[in-house]
Formats: sequence, C-alpha cells, structure tokens
Amino acid sequence: MKIAVIGTGYVGLVTGTCLAETGNDVFCVDIDVDKVNRMRNGEVPIYEPHLDVIFDRNIKAGRLRFTTELSEGLDHADIVFLALPTPEDEDGSADLSYVLRVAEDIGKQLKSYKIIVDKSTVPVGTAELVEKTIAAQTEVPFAVVSNPEFLREGFAVDDFMKPERIVVGATDETAIKEMKRLYAPFVRSGNPIIVMDEKSAELTKYAANSFLATKITFMNEVANYCELVGADVDKVRAGMGSDSRIGNRFLFPGIGYGGSCFPKDVKALHKAGKDSGYNFEILDAVINVNDAQKVSMVPKIKRYFKDQVAGKHFAFWGLAFKPETDDIREAPSLYMIEALLELGATITAYDPEAMPNVKAKVGDRINFAGSMYEATENADALVINTEWSIFRTPNLETLKNNLNQAVIFDGRNLYDVNEMALEGFHYISVGRKEIS
Ligand code: NAD
Repeated sequence: MKIAVIGTGYVGLVTGTCLAETGNDVFCVDIDVDKVNRMRNGEVPIYEPHLDVIFDRNIKAGRLRFTTELSEGLDHADIVFLALPTPEDEDGSADLSYVLRVAEDIGKQLKSYKIIVDKSTVPVGTAELVEKTIAAQTEVPFAVVSNPEFLREGFAVDDFMKPERIVVGATDETAIKEMKRLYAPFVRSGNPIIVMDEKSAELTKYAANSFLATKITFMNEVANYCELVGADVDKVRAGMGSDSRIGNRFLFPGIGYGGSCFPKDVKALHKAGKDSGYNFEILDAVINVNDAQKVSMVPKIKRYFKDQVAGKHFAFWGLAFKPETDDIREAPSLYMIEALLELGATITAYDPEAMPNVKAKVGDRINFAGSMYEATENADALVINTEWSIFRTPNLETLKNNLNQAVIFDGRNLYDVNEMALEGFHYISVGRKEIS
C-alpha cells in the first residue's frame, strides 16, 4: 500500500519504518530539513533499539523515502498518517496547532481520495476538527481515522511489529477496510484490531496513559508511606502484584514518571474534562503527587548533608526519563539538576544515550563524563535517576574508591538494601529502609 507519514519523530519514524518492513511503499515527511537530510544519508536521528537495522534494510529496498515536501508525500499516498507533536499548551491542554496546520495544508493540496489517519495523541473531538479543517479547503472526498499509538520508547519497534491491540476509530467503511488490510500482517498471532467510533478511540489513548500514570503514582505514595512507618515497599509490591486483578507491572516505585507522554497526557485529559464540565479529581492528585515525587530525593539529600549541600559534588547516573531511550522530555533528572544547582551543588553526569540532549538543554551548567565510573570520581554522593541495565550490577569497589564518601541516593531502587549494608554504603532509596 502507498503510505505517507507526516512527522518523523519517535512515533512517525517507527511507524513509517515498520510499515515499510511489511512491504508498503512509505514516504516520511518532516519540516526539519537537517533531520530529513540525515535520514536520507542513512542516519537514524533518534536512539531506539533495533530501529537502525530495519531502517537501513527498507531504505536499501527503496520502500522508505524522506522528503520535506508535504505535497510529495500526499500525492504518493493512499493513507496519510499524522504523527505530529501535540505538546502541552500553557493551560495544560494539548496544543493542536501542528495537527490542524497540517490538516489545512492537506485540504489545500488534496487531489484525490485519501485516508487521513491521526496517530498523534489528541483530545476527544479532534478527528471531527481535522475533518472540518480539511473540508473547509477542498471538495475532494477523504476520510479521517483516529488510530492512537501505544508503542513504548525503548521497545517501539517490537511494540509496533507485535502490538497487543490496534485501535481504529472510524465510521467510513472504506477506511475501516483499508486500515484492517494495512494492519493485518501485524496481528497474525490473533491480537485484536478494535474498531470503534473516533471519540472513543481518542479517549482510549488518554485513559490508558492516565491509568498507567495513576498506577505508578499510587505505588509512589505507598512507598512514601512505607518510609514513614518502616514497611518495605519491595515486599508490599510483591504481595500486591501477585494478585492477578492488580498485576505486577507498573508497580515499581521511584522518582516519578516523566517522558513525552504521561505528563502531558494526564494534564490534557484533566483539562479536557474541565472544559466539558467534568473534574477528574484523581488526575489532579496524580499530577500533584508526581510533581513532588520528581524531587523527593532532595529532602533526603539535604537531611544527609545536614542542609550543607552548597559546594557538594554529585555524580548522576541516568538522565533519560527511562532506560533505552535518549528522550529527556519531562525527565525527573532535569528537575533534580535544577534543584541541586539551586542549592549550590555541582554535578557530573553520565547517561548512555541522553547526554547530548541534556547538554543542549542545560549547557555547561553541569559536567558530562565519558563513563559511569568517571562520573563518580571525587563525588560526595552518587544519585541514580534512570534504571539503565549497565547501572544494575556496578563494581562496588571501584565505586567506593572513586566516591569521596560511599553514599548512594537511588531513585530507582536498583540494589538490594542488605547487600549495600554489607558493602558499607550509606544507601537511600525509595520506600525502603535507609542503610547507614
Ligand atoms: P516528536 O516530537 O518526536 O516528533 C514530531 C515530529 O514532527 C518532529 O520530527 C517534527 O520536526 C515534525 N513536525 C512538526 N511539524 C511538522 C509539520 N508541519 N510537517 C511535518 N513534520 C512536522 O513527537 P513523538 O514523540 O513522535 O510524538 C508524536 C505524537 O505521538 C504525539 O502526539 C505524542 O503524544 C504521540 N505519542 C508519542 C509516543 C512516544 O512514545 N513518543 C507514544 C505514543 C503516542
């Protein structure tokens, strides 16, 4: 099938590449000239495991091409995916300007029937808005489909190739048939393509993300309470998670959720509810608790250093909002950086993939190390923000030798508390006893 994907970020590029992998002829469109040039030269502009191999294969096979011209993608395609940003607006709502601007341009340039598929995460009613925006510019027939994306950064290729479900929000029968045909290779093992109306599809995505953010946040509150009463959140988690009604995923406590999706999606659903006269009280709490959780290590650090944080030097392990990505949008590490700099501390950070992005954001206000151990040299404490695999079994002797004091503030609960005690560390984590 002939496909265009407008916007080649984490979602668009994975969508385009994976659709090419199943034999479709794909044009990816982006306004970022530099990005398009890099992709034309065979460079994957983001870090996403396994993407490089299929990216390369499909470019060589001529099934994956890149352009900065919307018209080139549009003229080529029968199905046009919108994978455009929907960032948080000042009032917490989703900023639809990218989506609607492209919809208007599509309307102006449409020459024949196309299926326009919204893959961006958007509030209820956006498909209708996109339809009106295009229709205001053209008499040419078209259909609009809402097809929210559920991939996870770090597992995006796997998630796209083997989705647990595909949600198609559409009423146009041709569009539904074509979407089923396009996705058939991805659901051969029997996972469902769930067809529903556009509004329900749009809400499904927000509801799913908000539920997951709520689950994480609930567990963070349980962890905070564990610290007060001397319970161990690891035990509580194991006890809770083995109940199949609860499940053991998304129950790991830590320093809060971040990323390009949960923070803005929770806020957007909350705001959309308000605009419709509904107050999502639970989401209000989730937003507030998570804001506090992102810097919940700061009071622990202050307490340990008896409020003398100025002049202390910290090693940071992990900057990305989660492992296996270079995405730092809303990463708790950024909040930790600001909080510690504000207190007069200095920081040397190491992250396997996210350092260039953080450097572009914070410049030389912090230092960057060439390795995880180099970051710890002469630091007064180690702070862990992201649970990358390479941090899981460090050489504790090297760590002790490098650090001025054997102190770890672990925002991701990577290590066994008792083992850290035996190794002689002062170890402070989340929802577990403090080892000194
Ligand atoms: P992104 O910021 O990584 O990528 C967006 C891309 O769109 C950029 O390359 C940008 O240059 C391009 N762009 C902007 N305006 C354009 C225009 N007029 N024409 C062509 N290209 C244009 O965003 P993302 O993370 O891929 O997210 C896209 C959407 O998918 C968002 O709505 C997001 O909420 C949703 N989503 C994201 C994820 C995720 O894990 N990142 C998962 C599911 C859904």
